[in-house]
Amino acid sequence: MSQKDVQEYIIDFKHMFEDEVDRHFMLGNEYWEKADCAEITSGSVDVSAHVKKMDEYFILDVKVNGDVMIPCDRCLDEFPAPIQADVHLLVQLGPEDAEINEETIAVNEVRGTLDLSSLVSEMVAVSLPLAHIHPEGECNQEMLERLAALSVTNVSDEENISGDTFEDNDSTNTIDPRWNELKKIKDNK
Ligand SMILES: [Zn+2]
Repeated sequence: MSQKDVQEYIIDFKHMFEDEVDRHFMLGNEYWEKADCAEITSGSVDVSAHVKKMDEYFILDVKVNGDVMIPCDRCLDEFPAPIQADVHLLVQLGPEDAEINEETIAVNEVRGTLDLSSLVSEMVAVSLPLAHIHPEGECNQEMLERLAALSVTNVSDEENISGDTFEDNDSTNTIDPRWNELKKIKDNK
């Protein structure tokens, strides 16, 4: 990431001499790998920002559009989650950075700048899908089988987890005979 790219992310409200400012940049893998944002490991997010200077405040519109990679909660493989979000904010200069209400934020007037990349990270984090799982049928089947085997091993035979491979662990496929006895008792009721 060059210095010029980083400059693109910063809006300097205090020294904004034009009436309107447009910014357009892409937050790619290099950004998401370093950003500590939800579970995102990489991605490609297109950002458009427009700032309009008013008498006592600024109007900031930001649109994001792209994909980020997040791990699937079911099979643990990563999958691309589509991201699309926009915000419309009023920005004021104030004694400190603050969220005044849902639509209005204050930017520290001594610094006078806002880093759009952190705003974008927040927008992306809240627009991730609630369920972090592959579309139906696209999970890594081999991984699902391994995880299923592991969870059975966890319950019945804890010491097997560390050393043995899954393949030669026959006990994972057989039901504990005690459960069969219990089931008989239950069924006779
Ligand atoms: Zn999956």
